[in-house]
Amino acid sequence: MFGFSLTKLLFTVAVIMIVWYGFKWLGRVQAQRNAEVKGKPADSGRKTPRGAATAQVEDMVECATCGSFVPARGATNCGQAGCPYIG
Ligand SMILES: [Zn+2]
Repeated sequence: MFGFSLTKLLFTVAVIMIVWYGFKWLGRVQAQRNAEVKGKPADSGRKTPRGAATAQVEDMVECATCGSFVPARGATNCGQAGCPYIG
């Protein structure tokens, strides 16, 4: 009975130690990343909080027939005769 409980206790301690060191390691990695971000000379990424969104902006092209701007990729037909886009 006692031996079983001791094993359980040791196992619990081992799990706690693993979790503890895991969090410590994670904190160190995060601190390292923060230091890298702070160390960067170009700080423009912070001034534009939607920097990630601007990376996904699509190019717009003007339709030769109707003059409306449509995304260069996946452009759809505006419904007017002679529209170069299909869809
Ligand atoms: Zn068009």
